[in-house]
Amino acid sequence: MKGHVKTLSGMATAPEKIILKSQALKKYILEKCYPREHEQLKELREATIEQHPFWSLMNVPIDEGLLLSMLLKTMNAKKTLEIGVFTGYSLLTTALALPADGKIIAIDPNREAYQTGLPFIQKAGVEHKINFIESDALSVLNDLITNGKQEGTFDFAFVDADKEGYIKYHELLLKLVKIGGIIAYDNTLWFGSVAEPEEDKMEEFLKLGKKCLTELNSFLATDPRIESSLVSIGDGLTLCRRIC
Ligand code: SAH
Ligand code: CA
Repeated sequence: MKGHVKTLSGMATAPEKIILKSQALKKYILEKCYPREHEQLKELREATIEQHPFWSLMNVPIDEGLLLSMLLKTMNAKKTLEIGVFTGYSLLTTALALPADGKIIAIDPNREAYQTGLPFIQKAGVEHKINFIESDALSVLNDLITNGKQEGTFDFAFVDADKEGYIKYHELLLKLVKIGGIIAYDNTLWFGSVAEPEEDKMEEFLKLGKKCLTELNSFLATDPRIESSLVSIGDGLTLCRRIC
């Protein structure tokens, strides 16, 4: 992740996380079709842009947040996992979508970024649903299985962390998420690079992510334990429903 950070921050401008055909179309959708972003989500997004101008691109975009919210409500999710929190845009989205007694285990080794979003989570009145664990995800997931006896107890998991870890997380999440539950992987189109030919001039972070995500996408496409749908929203969101 550190190497990735250095290379990406060396770029002059943030790469576009969009597969729509034009900027005008993106602007139209966000401004005209999604005016109802929750007030604290808007505040959290704006605070993130102010405090982390470049890395704010890591927050899921508004339209993806609304889709996740609708999905969580439709499936009556109560207990979820959040892997990769940053300032907590997707985390606050989830916390707002769960019922009052809902619970989220949120894992990220970077507590500092979480502090940027925490005041808005508190203001929205949903902090009690969140158990933030400052750690690498792999050790926490293993611990939930071996010591926590939490296999098959989660309704939903949102994975938006180190891309090289996704395949390892998948094996553990298939144990933790119940049959019928959803595991969602973010950034599965990796700025469109997954379909680009290999080129030397491709930015290093694009190459690295492309390798991880093409491997993941191919793996998920034939994994008999799930049914999946790669939704062309944001930077690509793959929904996997555990079927056995
Ligand atoms: N879901 C967030 C954005 C997450 S950005 C949102 O929508 O706002 C990716 C995050 O993954 C970063 O905060 C980074 O610290 C975290 N991360 C990196 N490696 C990780 C690991 N091994 N385990 C858990 N989180 C990790
Ligand atoms: Ca992401």
